[in-house]
Amino acid sequence: MTTTTSSPNAAALAAALPELREAYAALQAKGLKLDLTRGKPSAEQLDLSNGMLALPGTAPTQAARANGTDVRNYGGLDGLPELRAIFAELLDVPAGQLLAGGNASLTLMYDTVAWAMLFGFPESPAPWSREEKVRWICSVPGYDRHFAVCEELGIEMIAVPMKDGGPDVAAIAELVAGDPTIKGLWVVPTYSNPDGSIVSDDVARALVSMPAAAPDFRILWDNAYALHHLTDTETASAPALRLAAEAGNPDRVLMYASTSKITWAGAGVAFLAASPANLAWYKKHLGKASIGPDKVNHLRHALFFGSAGGVREHMRRHREILAPKFEAVTSILAERLGEYGVGTWTDPKGGYFVSLDVVPGTASRVVALAKDAGIALTPAGATFPYGKDPQDQNIRLAPTMPPLEEVTAAMDGVATCVLLAAAEALGG
Ligand code: PMP
Repeated sequence: MTTTTSSPNAAALAAALPELREAYAALQAKGLKLDLTRGKPSAEQLDLSNGMLALPGTAPTQAARANGTDVRNYGGLDGLPELRAIFAELLDVPAGQLLAGGNASLTLMYDTVAWAMLFGFPESPAPWSREEKVRWICSVPGYDRHFAVCEELGIEMIAVPMKDGGPDVAAIAELVAGDPTIKGLWVVPTYSNPDGSIVSDDVARALVSMPAAAPDFRILWDNAYALHHLTDTETASAPALRLAAEAGNPDRVLMYASTSKITWAGAGVAFLAASPANLAWYKKHLGKASIGPDKVNHLRHALFFGSAGGVREHMRRHREILAPKFEAVTSILAERLGEYGVGTWTDPKGGYFVSLDVVPGTASRVVALAKDAGIALTPAGATFPYGKDPQDQNIRLAPTMPPLEEVTAAMDGVATCVLLAAAEALGG
């Protein structure tokens, strides 16, 4: 992650206030209707996978059987072996430790935590819901839906600020070692949502080795953006499962991924990679909830890609569409905010987001100003547990879905709002 830092020039902002008010009125007069809220793929990206609409085809040899499995029938809780082999290579895990499931990794994560609450993990002293208190560490800024899972299930969240190189291992290690009510930690290891940071092998090793007071402490390793590079440096994710096994904590990590932003968000395939014990635990409960996944969709994906190389090639086509949008975001921020020394933002090398820190105390104002000018932004605070950013300064920008012209127009408008809010707060 590269971060552009600055400190605001209050005098220049104060002088520019009348001009910024005019610029904002002009922005409102445009009657825009733009949306930078959620990290969804664009229609152009979705079109890259249209070949899948004709798969698996009607030939019975292809449509019905793969490795002797009739994909049209019940069964095969682990998912289709061909597809698991492809994604095992990409996620750098043994295929035997990878399960291909339904269409959403978020569901796999939710089920993991919900089942821990209901049943506990094999070594849990009791189901988590019977404990007086269950707590969870959330690096911030982070992914709002992770926080929503904890909140829904009554798990108390402890926010730990992200550092430049990802999660703050020292702070996390201290908390985890001293508090047996802390049962888990979310990690988005590659191109984190929203700050784009990457967990190095050293940080990963520290996280999987640190002593934990809770015997059933887990790290939910959400590798949603493992393959989603924005440059030709295709950084490999830290091999968390292997590192955990080497550290003598094989069951600490459960790894999740999906093709939501590879093929189709909503009609893709989600994956869980875990130790044999965790996988057996997961399947024991899954087997009560399902007689098997949608293997037709698994086969469709396996045929479409053919190999891990096929997936990598496909991701390069996504990159061609996405890189100019991210470039537009960061260059507009630099051009418009740089002059006033306002704001700090990330320059991600992958993933789906740019994390923007505005002048403290003004993020909600920026989002409200943008809304009144027809630009929808993710609510201020969304990147923090309980929706509360104590500094009211972080805004998650999601430039993937709108066409480039709209990203450019929206970001120019956002920059006006950021400057106006800063001028009001500092100079006005
Ligand atoms: N994890 C992260 C970090 C995400 O950003 C997203 C999508 N916004 C998801 C998980 C959701 O993945 P899925 O579609 O597989 O449920």
